[in-house]
Amino acid sequence: MKVDISHISKVDGASLELEISENLEGLESSVEGFEFEDPVDFKGTLVNIGGILKLDGHLDVAYTSKCSRCLKDLKSEMSVTIRESFVNGEKLADEDSYTYEGNYVSIDKALKDNIVLNLPVRQLCTEECKGLCKICGGDLNAKDCDCKEETMNPQMEVLKNFFS
Ligand SMILES: [Zn+2]
Ligand SMILES: [Zn+2]
Repeated sequence: MKVDISHISKVDGASLELEISENLEGLESSVEGFEFEDPVDFKGTLVNIGGILKLDGHLDVAYTSKCSRCLKDLKSEMSVTIRESFVNGEKLADEDSYTYEGNYVSIDKALKDNIVLNLPVRQLCTEECKGLCKICGGDLNAKDCDCKEETMNPQMEVLKNFFS
């Protein structure tokens, strides 16, 4: 997602309207357990404020993850407000800043970072999800099994703690 900034890079206060729909390279590999099939939509503005480019806008992304309890695939959508700054890379920038050089700015990393930060740590298909039986692995939402908790072996105890 390279944005041509030749029209605003030299003019203080100049701005660009952005409306982008694109797949972000490397997004999937930077977060485990999430799949992104659709392109990411971004709508916003890029404004030159004293040589610093301020990105202000809104991002929509659809993703598939798994229920933390029963591991069923879940499709979700997320909207993220984006507010980032890009400093001219030729000047000294602190490590946290995004940079641009010449007539182009790549906003991919900024968008990607915002998505990764906002993805949920845990998701449930429903609040009442019963999860999987720790003993036979059956989906307890589909049917109860006859397994008894007390027959649990130590290895399963570890799994139980893992899922609780
Ligand atoms: Zn579930
Ligand atoms: Zn069972």
